[in-house]
Amino acid sequence: MPRTKKSAEDEDTAAAPAAAGTASIDSIARDIATAIVEKRLPPGTWLREEALGRVYSVSRTKVRAALLTLSKDKLIEIIPDKGAFVCQPSVKDAREVFAVRRVLESEVVRLFIANAKAADYQTLEQHIRFERSTLNQSVTTTSGSVRERLLGDFHVALAQAAGNDTLAELVRELVARSSLIAMLYHSSNDPHCSSDEHADFLKLCRAGQVDAAVSSMCDHLSRIEQSLELGSEKVDRQLDLVKALLA
Ligand SMILES: [Zn+2]
Repeated sequence: MPRTKKSAEDEDTAAAPAAAGTASIDSIARDIATAIVEKRLPPGTWLREEALGRVYSVSRTKVRAALLTLSKDKLIEIIPDKGAFVCQPSVKDAREVFAVRRVLESEVVRLFIANAKAADYQTLEQHIRFERSTLNQSVTTTSGSVRERLLGDFHVALAQAAGNDTLAELVRELVARSSLIAMLYHSSNDPHCSSDEHADFLKLCRAGQVDAAVSSMCDHLSRIEQSLELGSEKVDRQLDLVKALLA
């Protein structure tokens, strides 16, 4: 797929974050992952090692290590002789991600109901209250991408409370990829609707209704998938790399 190489050739290195020079590989990878999930770095963006090195005031070796971490999470793609790019999941990838999420998160629901303690329910109920208060804030104070990330965090928190760390890690990766997919395929998902579905789902878990809770989760994921425009592959977008990371 052709890619558009637009990035921050002329940006000033003075714009680097406060902790310049001290950023670890993990913290750089986390920062870039957050920028991708929050849609500041859209699919197809060329992640120039030199520009990233200037943003974080670190060596290209460190940048390369951070990019390698992100490529393992399928958030970026490293193309030999070309560089690193934010992944552009295909329609097939998108459908596969949601199909796998339904399988894995069904198991998350079963494990959660079997293992969850009162504190886990309280944490998730608190998360739903936070979702609602954030969703009720004006659009100008909360960006759509932050609200969407918050909704994804519910699924990650649920998986973490289920007690299987390997499963939770897979769900975390798939939720992050789902954000990329939602961005690329213009999700028309209503965040209020998703938050209401989280609340209804949690009530079923509390009542110990395993089958109904599993169905509720699968229906929820199917509805999110159906809100995507998966009719055609999307093309590259462009943006300013350095400004996006410093936003
Ligand atoms: Zn959800």
